Amino acid sequence: AQATWGFVGLGQMGYPMAKNLRSKIPATDSLMVFDINNSATSQFVEETSSSTNTGASVTIAKNLQDVARVSDTVLTMLPQPAHVKAVYDEFLSALSDGAVSRLFIDCSTIDVKTSVEVGSAIRAAGHDFVDAPVSGGVVGATAATLTFMLGASESTVQRAQPVLEMMGKRVIHMGNPGTGIVGKLANNYLLAINNLATAEAMNFGIKLGLEAKTLANLINCSTGRCWPSEVNNPVPGVIEGAPAGRGYQGGFGVSLMTKDLKLAIAAAELAGAKLVLAGAARQLYDEAEVHDECKGKDFSVVYKYLRLEEK
Ligand code: NAD
Repeated sequence: AQATWGFVGLGQMGYPMAKNLRSKIPATDSLMVFDINNSATSQFVEETSSSTNTGASVTIAKNLQDVARVSDTVLTMLPQPAHVKAVYDEFLSALSDGAVSRLFIDCSTIDVKTSVEVGSAIRAAGHDFVDAPVSGGVVGATAATLTFMLGASESTVQRAQPVLEMMGKRVIHMGNPGTGIVGKLANNYLLAINNLATAEAMNFGIKLGLEAKTLANLINCSTGRCWPSEVNNPVPGVIEGAPAGRGYQGGFGVSLMTKDLKLAIAAAELAGAKLVLAGAARQLYDEAEVHDECKGKDFSVVYKYLRLEEK
C-alpha cells in the first residue's frame, strides 16, 4: 500500500536526512515536508523534482496539522526543546482518537523532560513515539551513515528501525522512552570535554616548541587519542579536511555544542550526578559562542579562542 511520510525541520541535518529517506522509500509513496524557513522547503522540492530525479513525490505541507493528519510516519529534526514542544503541540491538536496508529520519530537533541512529556502525550493519543537523537554530523547525514540511539518499547523500536536504516548505519536501542536522549547527552558531554582538552594540550605543547603534526601523531598512537585529536583536530593543518583547516567553517556549530553541554549539565543535575569539569567548560564555550571571531564556527574553534584570550 502507498504510504505518506512527513519530515519537519530541513536544516543542516534534516535536509540531507530527508533527501536520503525520499530516495529510499518506494517511488509510489509520497513525502510531505515542512519548515518555517520557506527557502529550505522550496529548495528541497526543486532539487527532488528535476526530471532526472525519479522517486517518491514531494509536497510542502500547508501547516503542521496537515503533516500529522496524513502521514503514517513523521520525522522531526529541530534545534531546541521549545521547537519540539511547539511542533508536537500542533501535531497533537490534529490527532483525533481512534485514528490509525502513526509513528513519530524525534531526532532532535533536546532535554530528557521535554522528550518524555511529548512522547507520553503522543502515546496517550494512541500513536507511537521514539526519541532517536543522532551522532555523525552533517557528513553522516549526507552519506546516510548516522548512528541513532533510541528510547522506546521494543515494539516501537522494531517499527522505527527500518525507517532509520534508510538514513543511517547503526540503530542502537538504549532502553525506555528518554534513554536515547540520555545516551546522546552523555556522549556529547564527553565530546565537549575532549575537544577542549585537546585544544589545551595541543596549545601548550606547541608553545613549548613541538611541531603540531608531530604532537598530534604522538597523541593519536597514545592514550590521549580521541575523536577531536584524531578526526577533528582543532589546530589548523593537522588533519586534512578538518574544519580547522578552512577557517573553522562547516562542521558542528559551537552554539550547538554549547546547547548540548547545558542539556547534559541539566540531565546530570536531574540525576544528582556530580560533574566536576562542566563549569569551566561551560564558561569557555559560552564565551567562544558569542565571540566575533568564533561565533557560527565549528566547535573546534575553542583552540582559536584560547589563543585569542592569551594575547
Ligand atoms: P538547523 O538549525 O540547521 O535546522 C533546524 C531546522 O528546523 C531549520 O531549518 C529551522 O528553520 C527548522 N525549524 C525551527 N523551528 C521550526 C518549527 N517550529 N517548525 C518547522 N521547522 C522549524 O539545526 P541542525 O544542525 O539541523 O540540528 C538539528 C538538531 O540535530 C539539533 O537538536 C542538533 O543539536 C542536532 N544535531 C546536530 C548535529 C550537527 O552536526 N549539526 C549533529 C547531531 C545532532
